[in-house]
Amino acid sequence: MADAQHPSKKKPKQPQRPRHVPQRTCIVCRQVRPKRELIRVVRTPAGHIELDPTGKKSGRGAYLCARRSCWEPALHQGRLEREFEMAIPAEDRLALEAYLDSLPPETAPAPAKKPARQRAKAPAAENGPSDK
Ligand SMILES: [Zn+2]
Repeated sequence: MADAQHPSKKKPKQPQRPRHVPQRTCIVCRQVRPKRELIRVVRTPAGHIELDPTGKKSGRGAYLCARRSCWEPALHQGRLEREFEMAIPAEDRLALEAYLDSLPPETAPAPAKKPARQRAKAPAAENGPSDK
């Protein structure tokens, strides 16, 4: 066989259907969504786990919906760690937690219990009847 000997050039992987919107699966809820609606988290070759807003970092990627209900299990129930088979380094966790914090609260009627919100109770009857 006369196989043309290409120099070992790295060929970028072509998406199979260029016009098709690439779809990814959220690792928590397993919903398939267009890739751009999902947040990519990457395990870098240096052993960090970080957000990848551009989707271009090298490393192993995992996708999550930009929703608290997906990020909370991802960070707090070890879903990301299972996905990447490593513990999230503390500094990376901070950055991911900060991202989780930036997500808007969800309005979906979730059966989950709400965190007890501390309400600063204003002392009511502080103003006595002032007779001027
Ligand atoms: Zn999800």
